[in-house]
Amino acid sequence: MDQVPDSARHLIECDTESCRNYSEFYCNTCHQRICDHCKEAHLKENTGHEIVRYHERKRKLPSEKCRIHPIKDIDVFCKFCQDPVCSTCFAQEHSDHANSDLETIYNDILQECQKEMTDIWKTVIPKAKENAESIGGKRERMSRKKLPSLEYP
Ligand SMILES: [Zn+2]
Ligand SMILES: [Zn+2]
Ligand SMILES: [Zn+2]
Ligand SMILES: [Zn+2]
Repeated sequence: MDQVPDSARHLIECDTESCRNYSEFYCNTCHQRICDHCKEAHLKENTGHEIVRYHERKRKLPSEKCRIHPIKDIDVFCKFCQDPVCSTCFAQEHSDHANSDLETIYNDILQECQKEMTDIWKTVIPKAKENAESIGGKRERMSRKKLPSLEYP
């Protein structure tokens, strides 16, 4: 359908089931390739998904499961505790802390380093902690005490 030479067509095909079009776009949210044709439908079905050109795509975070929630991937970085956690842990234990999207940190650091890193847990996390420390200054760890529930007068 698209005007793409046959030689390029098989290289990156759309990931939508039963679609074999050449794909020029990428959904950063689902981490799948998507063609111009499927783009509209995808956005209609999945509100808020971020579709970019293929060469501008985000790299998928290498997955690591949470020890407490084995079905959840670790994808949040708590800036306060400087720990990578899963979204459930974050909601339960760190709800009053500032967080970063671990995938964004990963992609930022990838760009800095200009190469793909397979071992995020050895390379990216220490660097993320370093950055968090230099931004936040000296860390004051106030224990993970639960804040009293807010009372409005
Ligand atoms: Zn999507
Ligand atoms: Zn398609
Ligand atoms: Zn967890
Ligand atoms: Zn925290």
